[in-house]
Amino acid sequence: MSKLFLSIDFEDFSHDLGRDLGLWETRPLRIAALTRAYEAIERFLQAHGGARATFFCTGIIAEQAPELIARIAAEGHEIACHHHFHDCIDQETPEAFAANLQKALSALRAASGQPVTGFRAPKFRIPQSRSAHYTLLAKHVEYDSSYLCNSAEAARHFSASLAPPLKILPIFAARPRALAPKMRLGGTYLKLFSRATAARLIKASTQAGLAPHIYLHPYEFVADQSFALSRAELAPLGPARAAYWHARQSQWHKIGNRSLPQKLSALLQNHTLGGRLDENLTPLAL
Ligand SMILES: [Zn+2]
Repeated sequence: MSKLFLSIDFEDFSHDLGRDLGLWETRPLRIAALTRAYEAIERFLQAHGGARATFFCTGIIAEQAPELIARIAAEGHEIACHHHFHDCIDQETPEAFAANLQKALSALRAASGQPVTGFRAPKFRIPQSRSAHYTLLAKHVEYDSSYLCNSAEAARHFSASLAPPLKILPIFAARPRALAPKMRLGGTYLKLFSRATAARLIKASTQAGLAPHIYLHPYEFVADQSFALSRAELAPLGPARAAYWHARQSQWHKIGNRSLPQKLSALLQNHTLGGRLDENLTPLAL
C-alpha cells in the first residue's frame, strides 16, 4: 500500500481570526480546546496504526502552552513551525518576517526540546516571486511545505531557483476535473470533497509525481465549535460584519467536521500513514 502523509497546522483559530479582523493583537489562547483537538488527532492516529505526524505549530502556542508542545513532542511527533502569529507573510517585510520567524523557532525549540527544521507559511502565503523571504527561511530551517503546485516538475523548478538551497515539500493543488475550481489536498477542501473526489485528487497527486500529503487543522478534528468566536466577541466589528463572520465560521467549525474522521479512515483503506515529514524527506522533498 502506498503512503499517505498527514500534517497538522496546529493553531488557535479563534485567536488568529480575531487578530486578522483587528479585534486584538493577541490574547490568551484556548488551550483546553487545543488540548482536546490534539487528543482527537492522537486517537485517530492510534486507531490507524499509531503513525506519528508533523505538527506545524504557531510560536504563540509554544509561548502560552509550552507543556502542550512538550507533550506533542514527547508523544513522538515532529514539531515544525507555522510562524509566530498566524500572519500572512506576503504582507510582511523581510525584516519583520525574520523577527517573527526567530521568535517562533526559539519558543518552539525551547518548549519541545527538539530541533525544529520544518516550516509552513500561514495560509500558504509567502512571496514566491521575490527571493528575500526564502533566503531568510533557508538560514533557519531545512525544509518548507508552503508551495502549492500540480506537478513534481513545477516544484523541482521552484526548488532549483532558491539560493541558498531549501528542501521543498509541496502540497498538491489542482482541478479535480476540467472547468472545476482549483482545489488543495486538505483543510476545508477535503471536508467539502466527496470521498470519491478526495480519492481522485490523491491519485492525481501520485500521477503528478508528488507523494500524497493531506494537511488539516485542530478545529477540523472537533465538531463542538470550540474555536468559533461568539457574537459578543465579534460585536466590535459592527452588526453587519459581526453577523457575516459569525455565519462564515460554519465553513471551518461545522460543515463536514463530523464526517471528516470517517472520510479519512475510508481513504486510509488503500494507504498507510506515512509518518513524520522530517523522517521522510527523501520521498517528499523536491
Ligand atoms: Zn494555518
